[in-house]
Amino acid sequence: MKIAVVGAGLGGLSFGACAARDGHEVILIDKNDEPGGVMALAREGGFSFEQGPLILTDLREDEAVGGFLASLGIHLETVRDDRGLSTPDFDLIPPEEYEGPDWRKRRLEELFPAEKKGIREYYRFYDALMEIRFLSGEKKGLLNQLRLLRAFLTVKPYENMTCRRFTEKLFSDEKLRLVFNGILADFCADADEVQCFTLPFVNTETAFDKRIPTEKKGKLYYPSYRYIVGGCQKLPEALCAYILEHNGRFLSRTVAEKVLVEAGRAVGVRLEDGREIRADMVVGCGSARDFFTELVGEEYLDGNYRRILRDFRPMEAVFMLHLGVDFDPSAFQKQSLCYYYGSYDLHGAVEKLRSGVYHRGSDGYLIYFPDRHAPAFAPPGCHCVTIYTVCPDRLREGDWESRKELFADELIRLAEEHLPGLSEHIVAKKIVTAEDYRRLTHMKKSSFGGAVPIWKQRNPPYLTPVKDLIFVGAQSESGGGVPIVLLGAVEAYEKAIRANRAEGKGPAAGPV
Ligand SMILES: Cc1cc2nc3c(=O)[nH]c(=O)nc-3n(C[C@H](O)[C@H](O)[C@H](O)COP(=O)(O)OP(=O)(O)OC[C@H]3O[C@@H](n4cnc5c(N)ncnc54)[C@H](O)[C@@H]3O)c2cc1C
Repeated sequence: MKIAVVGAGLGGLSFGACAARDGHEVILIDKNDEPGGVMALAREGGFSFEQGPLILTDLREDEAVGGFLASLGIHLETVRDDRGLSTPDFDLIPPEEYEGPDWRKRRLEELFPAEKKGIREYYRFYDALMEIRFLSGEKKGLLNQLRLLRAFLTVKPYENMTCRRFTEKLFSDEKLRLVFNGILADFCADADEVQCFTLPFVNTETAFDKRIPTEKKGKLYYPSYRYIVGGCQKLPEALCAYILEHNGRFLSRTVAEKVLVEAGRAVGVRLEDGREIRADMVVGCGSARDFFTELVGEEYLDGNYRRILRDFRPMEAVFMLHLGVDFDPSAFQKQSLCYYYGSYDLHGAVEKLRSGVYHRGSDGYLIYFPDRHAPAFAPPGCHCVTIYTVCPDRLREGDWESRKELFADELIRLAEEHLPGLSEHIVAKKIVTAEDYRRLTHMKKSSFGGAVPIWKQRNPPYLTPVKDLIFVGAQSESGGGVPIVLLGAVEAYEKAIRANRAEGKGPAAGPV
């Protein structure tokens, strides 16, 4: 089959790699020079920066993403790392000397002695969900079934609770609630919208100290957080190279303007320059609303798909400030990545995001050192610092372009509390606003990570009402993220090939 893939971001590339592996002819179409979408690098004054994912899970070759890549012969060097968490009143930064896997629990008990009972219950709940995660990937068997049942009974009383209800039930102090709910702001989600079973997985203890073992009894048990050595762009570059080595093509600087539909079936793509590419299957990604309203045409959708498109909520944008500096900032922040929360009011922060009010760093920001795992990103003697916040796609007052310098200066001032003297060491500066992200991703509304993980929300399904038209990428996934987008696209490919076969269009090549 000939498969036209609109968008060479992670979703399109992962789908394309599966298709290329199975002998299909893949044509990647992307408006950018390089593959990767938000995983491509930003560059300024001799420095490089990651403008998308920072720290990733599932990259080991005995985990799902690493295993998939290895099956294609792609082996990326990765390094395990962790992140710190800082609030206006206390820090949860890994101790210099390793204090065991429970150090955060003990530290929280010291900080909040009146909340000991709730803290212990949280970690019982955490352990049970980690056990369920592990056992779900194991062989069935009676013993495992019993272990699963025991773990399930531990979490069952909470299964109908949102993160807000759950943390309010366990903890009376809002500062403690923020330790677990704060990360939801990254997903632009209110604690009232997300099921509480999500909490352990977005707050995995192994993410907060790289010395915590990920194995139990010789088996991989907990997820581990890793960086790709040399930068995250190595992943899309490797997938793109794989496709090109397998008879594929990459049309860079090329905009797809229309999906060609004939008799309810996708038959190709019309490019902005008027050329038409005929194909047996078309894959789209990026903004679901833009793709279906503008490239496909809503008239081809059924009521159900239209409703999903109308109702699902994509995340908002990010404001990123990339700095090249001539000092070593890791003397002040030990970890490559630290979250600095500025407010305990998650609900208020999310309201602001959704109503176009930018908090200008006051609700929180991240400081990240990308060259720690990609030394070539900075010239000798220099380093990279990325400071970023979530933000509304459009500002209620003013626009990003005219206010970005002011916002960047404000973030530098805030960051100087942790990296003293920062402003005197800046030798390169690149500001990336929601407007830049819109251009980079070809979206009308920048949405940095896919669909907000709202409980029971349905996101646009991979198989669409138009035959041979598939939708992949962050906006077909809840919560987004590299492993979810990549594995989602692999699943989409398998479903698409199965649907194609079921129609009796002949055996597709390959093992699916
Ligand atoms: C700031 C930031 C931080 C992140 N942090 C993490 C993290 O720490 N961990 C993690 O796991 N994930 C993280 N993510 C999420 C992850 O990077 C993304 O979910 C994933 O890379 C999205 O891939 P995609 O293919 O859906 O979309 P994109 O990367 O947006 O790619 C879509 C591509 O399609 C192209 N395109 C769209 N329409 C057209 C058209 N009509 N014609 C031509 N080209 C078109 C666009 O130009 C773009 O190149 C982060 C993302 C961002 C932005």
